[in-house]
Parts: sequence; structure tokens; C-alpha cells
Amino acid sequence: MAECGRFAPTPSGRMHLGNVFSALLAWLSVRAAGGELVLRIEDLDTLRCSAENAGILKDDLRWLGLAWDREQPDQSARSEYYASILDLLRGEGFVYPCWCTRGDLKNAANAPHASDGHPIYPGTCRGLTPEERAAKAKERAPLWRLRVPDGDVTFIDGHYGAYTENLAHECGDFILRRADGVFAYQLAVVADDIDAGITQVVRGRDLLPSTPRQLYLYRLLGAAPPKYYHVPLLTAPDGRRLSKRDRDLDLGVLRGKYTAPELLGALAHAAGLLEKREPVSAEELLPLFDWAKIPRNDIAIEI
Ligand code: GLU
Repeated sequence: MAECGRFAPTPSGRMHLGNVFSALLAWLSVRAAGGELVLRIEDLDTLRCSAENAGILKDDLRWLGLAWDREQPDQSARSEYYASILDLLRGEGFVYPCWCTRGDLKNAANAPHASDGHPIYPGTCRGLTPEERAAKAKERAPLWRLRVPDGDVTFIDGHYGAYTENLAHECGDFILRRADGVFAYQLAVVADDIDAGITQVVRGRDLLPSTPRQLYLYRLLGAAPPKYYHVPLLTAPDGRRLSKRDRDLDLGVLRGKYTAPELLGALAHAAGLLEKREPVSAEELLPLFDWAKIPRNDIAIEI
């Protein structure tokens, strides 16, 4: 089967250097394998995302020379599709409605926390009777959680190797749909990657702890998962992680200071693909690309 990769940016602001680094490696990995690339705008959070930002994002990718072959519908337009996937899971008894608020969970004494910082759900609404559910449903709409097993999910990351997580102990029953009706990233990303026939996912190492959750969803849905390659994060020279708040390293500023080949050269050098920091195009990097050259530690970059 031909390889198919994707860019899945969230248009909540301008791309920063770290986003460009992940996009470059996603592009190189799938192009080097002769595969195709899909672009999907992940705008589930309609308060933080905008069509204007999505347009700028596409323009930035074109400016960088990172072309894609096809576009998937924006996530904000796919509620019906996600609802059908949630219904499938509901039909099998894998999900349950929950009325706990964020405040309830914060107040739970000594609640353990998952690796991504959210409190592990203590299972309060897991065992409600149909009568209890009916009574609560009259008051307000529930959110929907996936029941997770007490067992290890292990996978081999293409870059970081074996990674294991016990979903019950390290994550807990996680949310698939919020009480306001917005679908959660975990559900949408799996539903969309299945729909697009994605065979490889290249993304920042910050999403590594989400991967066992997503693999568990693949298992329940009976779909073949893609191969995952997580990439190191870029940091400022003082070790600070880059974020959308660092306006000095977003493309709005960087495009005024550098050409695209200069920026790609700096990133390719940081990635171990170029010995010297020199201007280069994405195409010119293709014959040099090799996962074995990419560092595993986060990379401090001066720009
Ligand atoms: N939309 C996510 C982001 O911009 C990426 C999700 C993914 O690659 O799975 O961080």
C-alpha cells in the first residue's frame, strides 16, 4: 500500500518554528517513501481557531515549499461523522455519559494526574444505573467518556522505540465529546486518520502520551493503525520550549527576516540532515533524509 502522511495543524495562531520543524519532517518522511500527503485543519476549538488563521497557515506552508496532495474537510465541519463514530462505540457499550464538572475533579482529594497534567478520572459516573442517568440527563447534557481497560498498550514508535502506557493507571477514562457538544481531539484525530487512509503520523513528541489512547480507539474500531514517528521539540537557547506565545519565533516575524531556504537550512542543520547551516529547499533535502540522523533529545535552536 502506498504511504500516506498528513499535516494536521491547529489554526489557533501563526505557526512557530517548532511547528515548521514537525511539518518539514512529516513532508520529508512521506515524500522520501514516495507517498502522498494530506492537509487537515484541526479547528475543533472554534473559539481559538479561525478561517483566517487557516488561510495564513496554508500560505506559510506554500511559502516554505511544503506542498500537499489533497485536503480533508476541516474538523469543524465533521460533527456528523464524529457522531457516527461515537454512536458505534456507544452501541458496543464502550462509552458512558458523565456529569462531573472540572471543579468536581479538581476538588477530589489527592487525585492522581496523568502525564499530560489532567487529573485521572476517578470513575464517579462509570457505574451509574439507568435510572440515575435518566435523572441527571433531565438536569443537563452529559459529556461522554471512553471506558479504558487496566492493561498496557505498547507500540513501537518509529523514532523513539517501544513506548508503553497503562491506560487505567496513567490516563483514566478519557473524554470523547464535551458537554457543549464539541468532540475531543482524541476521537477526531483517529476518525479522520482512518477516513483519509493515513499510514504514517509524524508529529511533535508532546503528543507521544496521547498515542496509546489513540491506538486503543483503533483497536475498538477494528481499524489498522498508522506507524507513528514522534519528533523532538525545539527549544530556545535557554531551554525554554517554543510556543505560540513566542511571537519572535512565529512565521509572521521570521518571514520578514529570512528566505524559506534559509529557514529550512537552519531546521535541517538542527535535524542533523545538513552539516552546515546553509540555504536549502525541501526537495534538496529528500536524498539526505534518514530517521537515523534525527536527534532524540530536544534541540536548542538559535535563530
Ligand atoms: N493539531 C495538532 C497540533 O497542531 C496535531 C495533532 C496530531 O498531529 O495528531 O498540535
